[in-house]
Amino acid sequence: MQVKVANKAGFCYGVKRALDLALTEASNNAGPIYTLGPLIHNPQVVRDLALQGIQELSDLDQAEGGTVIIRSHGVGPEVLEKSEQKKIKLLDATCPFVARAQKYAREMTEEGIPVYILGDPGHPEVQGILGWTKGKGIVVESADEISRVEHPRVGVVAQTTQPLTNYQRLVEAFQKQGVEVDARNTICHATGERQQAAWELAQEVDVVVVVGGKTSANTKKLAKLCEETGTPTYHIESAEELRQEWFRDCRKVGLTAGASTPDAIIEEVKRRMSELDQMTNGDEAMDPAMEVKSPRTGELVKGVVVQ
Ligand code: SF4
Repeated sequence: MQVKVANKAGFCYGVKRALDLALTEASNNAGPIYTLGPLIHNPQVVRDLALQGIQELSDLDQAEGGTVIIRSHGVGPEVLEKSEQKKIKLLDATCPFVARAQKYAREMTEEGIPVYILGDPGHPEVQGILGWTKGKGIVVESADEISRVEHPRVGVVAQTTQPLTNYQRLVEAFQKQGVEVDARNTICHATGERQQAAWELAQEVDVVVVVGGKTSANTKKLAKLCEETGTPTYHIESAEELRQEWFRDCRKVGLTAGASTPDAIIEEVKRRMSELDQMTNGDEAMDPAMEVKSPRTGELVKGVVVQ
């Protein structure tokens, strides 16, 4: 069985930066270190951080001195104001791409135009952006939610993990009504590249495994995209969740991972997939000279190859 890893998968720039900042702070600072919410949407990484003394808070009020790390999703201005009042030291790990969306939302609000935020209303990144509109922003998940717009001009920003097509449809929905749109495409390249690579991969394999936190928005979107190609798709957080029966009669399996998945977990999943393949298909599948046809794509694949 061939295991092909998507050419863009795993940690993105913003998540890696947040993790590096947190680890540097932990090694340089003896005081308590907190993150406001899980630093990244990956339970194994959060457990590792806890072992290094980095604790998770749900509210600033829980901090007892020390440093509070703002994660890559960012926060609204109310959190910054509260930390100042309480004299809590903040370490801002907001991803620069998210910070850009916050800046645009603030600028357009100051201009006095209604700001539409395309995204998941329950996601912390969206709630943070909403904060920069002084709560006046309008969060929508798709163009279908747009009814008659009274204002002649509106602003649009997007949660960084939104599919580009969703954003384009929203902008078009306003334009069709003759509304002038200040459209700021705040979708991050890392997300788009991972989505494109996952979608292409899903079309050339028999099964796709998507690795990442079950609450990670970008990982869930990768899994959804792969599913939409019609290829059986499994979203897992760790290698222990892999099941032998998923790979029965498979000749080519795709592997991709969300932006909050460390390389070590991807490697572990890859290793476990190879072990399961040996258990399922035995020596026959290990013959490197053997050529077999993929049951789904019809493509010829040689023996066990791990790329
Ligand atoms: Fe930043 Fe993009 Fe990563 Fe989000 S997915 S943290 S916006 S680099």
